[in-house]
Amino acid sequence: MDDEERLLSPKPAGEDNQVEKSLRPRSLAEFIGQAKVVAQLRIAVTAAKARQEPLDHTLFYGPPGLGKTSLANVVANEMGVKIKVTSGPAIERAGDLAALLTNLQKHDILFIDEVHRLNRVVEEVLYPAMEDFALDLIVGKGPSARNLRLKLPHFTTIGATTRLALLTSPLRDRFVAPHRLEFYTNEAMCEIVTRSAGILGVPISTLAAHELGRRARGTPRIANRLLRRVRDYAQVVAEGHIDLAVARAALAQLEVDDLGLDENDRRLLRAIIELFGGGPVGLSTLAAALAEEVDAIEDVYEPFLLQLGFLQRTPRGRIATRRAYDHLGLPFTEKTLPPSDESGTFQGRFL
Ligand code: ADP
Repeated sequence: MDDEERLLSPKPAGEDNQVEKSLRPRSLAEFIGQAKVVAQLRIAVTAAKARQEPLDHTLFYGPPGLGKTSLANVVANEMGVKIKVTSGPAIERAGDLAALLTNLQKHDILFIDEVHRLNRVVEEVLYPAMEDFALDLIVGKGPSARNLRLKLPHFTTIGATTRLALLTSPLRDRFVAPHRLEFYTNEAMCEIVTRSAGILGVPISTLAAHELGRRARGTPRIANRLLRRVRDYAQVVAEGHIDLAVARAALAQLEVDDLGLDENDRRLLRAIIELFGGGPVGLSTLAAALAEEVDAIEDVYEPFLLQLGFLQRTPRGRIATRRAYDHLGLPFTEKTLPPSDESGTFQGRFL
């Protein structure tokens, strides 16, 4: 299914842009959850400000929709500096990066979303910029070409990625402070829903906020999107007020089940169980069976199913666990897995 259409996709859809901006936390104090990351950032920001230095290069990694972009903006606000936002695929040539870098001012933040998608040539320019605040240019052509080193202002790179493993190790090494974002707890999600409802002016009961938060896959972006859909429902059937019964009825109509799974998640689990005997099945085989992109499965579906313990990743592929069978109401039969293949003969895609 087209990702843009998916209600429970943690990736931003077109309609989200404006609302997302208004719902973004602006300061560390306003940022709900991720206590460890927030505490570390608070120290880093305070120390950098006291030394009048730029913040160390920082990396946020974790599934989409958990607040990486929001945190980058929060950090810029806390530091009192400007933030320039770009993304890995948007920087096509070395010259694009050079243009961004030469426009930065002292202590500014360059935020690179999807930093694992930078190409090699651009990365080579970024290394000396991050390490020595220098831009190496080649001037002229042929035998008369020479290197020119331009000084850059001391700035901070903040990278965000959903796939730490795809980052090249030289790039990873240059981020002094990597932070892993986790799925949010139910309590934090309830707070986020309540806060967003307050900003949007939607009356919601605590129980309803808890229910919405609990079914939003530990992901604030999904919580905000569900809230807006449930608000529409409440407006039509309950004079705009969201109580528990209204929230439940709206979620049922949206086909979001008790754990926050939608039809696509259930289709994926059913495919593993019914087409591949519960697994193990290789990722590319599974993607082909579902007519989905491998990337969509890895980025969008899997992280939450793994978190719920419905899926297991093994060297031989994905396995549906007993919990997944139980959730779908399918009979589970214990089976002995074939011995794991460590001979290297398996040709499918690993992990
Ligand atoms: P990512 O960059 O990880 O995909 P974003 O920073 O774009 O995620 O967050 C998506 C949306 O979720 C934001 O618009 C924001 O409204 C909301 N959000 C994220 N984290 C929080 C949080 N800790 N508290 C409140 N809202 C949050």
